[in-house]
Amino acid sequence: MPEIEDGLLLSTNPATGEEAGRVPVADEKAVAQAVERAREAAAWWLGLGYDGRKARLLRWRSLLVGRIDELAEVTHRETGKPTADAVMETVAAVEHVDWAARHARKVLGPRRTRTRLLLAEHSGHLEYQPYGVVGVIGPWNYPIVTPVGPISGALAAGNAVIFKPSEYTPVVGQWLVDTFAEVVPEHPVLQAVHGFGDVGAALCRSGVGKVAFTGSTATAKKVMAACAENLVPVVIEAGGKDALIVDADADVPAAAEAAVWGGMTNAGQTCIGIERVYAVAPVYDALVKEIVAKAGKLRTGEEIGPITMPRQIDTIREHIDDALARGGTAVLGGADAVQPPYVAPTVLVDVPADSTEIREETFGPTLTITRVKDAEEAIRLANDTPYGLGGAVFGKKNAIRIARRLRAGMVAVNSTLTFVGMGNLPFGGVGDSGFGRIHGEDGLREFARPKAITVRRGPSVLPSMTFERTPAQIATIVKAVRLLYKGRP
Ligand code: NDP
Repeated sequence: MPEIEDGLLLSTNPATGEEAGRVPVADEKAVAQAVERAREAAAWWLGLGYDGRKARLLRWRSLLVGRIDELAEVTHRETGKPTADAVMETVAAVEHVDWAARHARKVLGPRRTRTRLLLAEHSGHLEYQPYGVVGVIGPWNYPIVTPVGPISGALAAGNAVIFKPSEYTPVVGQWLVDTFAEVVPEHPVLQAVHGFGDVGAALCRSGVGKVAFTGSTATAKKVMAACAENLVPVVIEAGGKDALIVDADADVPAAAEAAVWGGMTNAGQTCIGIERVYAVAPVYDALVKEIVAKAGKLRTGEEIGPITMPRQIDTIREHIDDALARGGTAVLGGADAVQPPYVAPTVLVDVPADSTEIREETFGPTLTITRVKDAEEAIRLANDTPYGLGGAVFGKKNAIRIARRLRAGMVAVNSTLTFVGMGNLPFGGVGDSGFGRIHGEDGLREFARPKAITVRRGPSVLPSMTFERTPAQIATIVKAVRLLYKGRP
């Protein structure tokens, strides 16, 4: 656990133990003060209108692009992840800021709805109004793109944001907030509050209008409980145990490459990382061989960075040990792969379905490969998990049909993780992986309340909502309703 010294949270590089930076720790009072400041900032920010906010968000996007190397270096220093991975993470974040900024007006702006015949003298109007102040609680594994998704959606919708980064990545979090303040210096529209879980809990109880949480399922339940006290709505982006299905007509080398990338990028510390592979019998042997060959080339300390959160190493070790103890075989890596702070790529086969390696989120560079009879069995096993975040399917004829049947919020066909890079697609899961969406139109609507307004345009022909209506008028209304709806199935 990071240390606190003189009120400052010390962040260290997990690979070297060197200090990555220090930030002030907040307490309940500081969180309350941040919310107060945010309320004023929110009023100003809302007053800028969609165009004013768009211009400023696009300026921030350009700053992120211009300083991509600096952000990647800060992230590399704090998480240990390879700089190239931090660059790619920033690229995805840039896409989400850009998309949210450009589409907020179209998705959330005022519009007329179609006239309803029985209330033809009224016009209907719909618009989406921001919550005011939104709390964003983020994890450490992707400290740029995971918070920037909800932050950009919330800001584009007209909210001010208070961001609580993970205690393991406060420096990256502060960098994001500081650079936003460079392009929006007038008011603290985006603020950070730092500290441990208690600061996140204080944010949930601080009077914010909505909380966007990204993190583990266990913490998500605590966040929901804290938010429930004041009926504060939440969007939950929690863990996953994503599966990749390889069908008989798949391009096997491409599937192997995707499994290795999807499972081992960021040392497997990816919410939408591939953890389980289900391959139909005809391609199973070739796939295992390809995966082992490709994963065997990855080097710890190079393509495979350190495990950022030290206690996660025990979980990874326990899962590997459990898989082996229950009869699984390591065809690459295995028990010796765990060399803190690194875990070498590990590929396990014949792992029984009740092993923790199959059932719980491992969050390390491990893959299980399971032989299945056909796609039906693959779908059944892939869906046999309380999680339902993402997934992938490799194949031709039936791939999209299989993708539709996976119980998950997002599925990539003939690739992995692709959906996180598309600003116009919603991101989020089902079951223990959470609910609500960030990114895309749904991700914008998540941060605004729909507001319905009706406007009378003239006198009522058939007055129904008044005590002054007559029996004859009611009879006419019933006749009209019969005419309008009776014949419709
Ligand atoms: P945690 O759940 O441990 O922490 C997430 C955040 O919640 C941190 O900022 C943490 O602060 C804070 N927090 C802890 N306790 C509380 C509390 N009681 N009330 C409010 N906030 C609290 O997750 P990790 O940081 O370990 O992240 C890894 C997890 O995140 C994995 O399960 C991963 O799958 C998931 N994830 C999901 C994604 C998605 O989009 N679905 C994307 C990325 C990750 P502190 O760190 O200071 O304890």
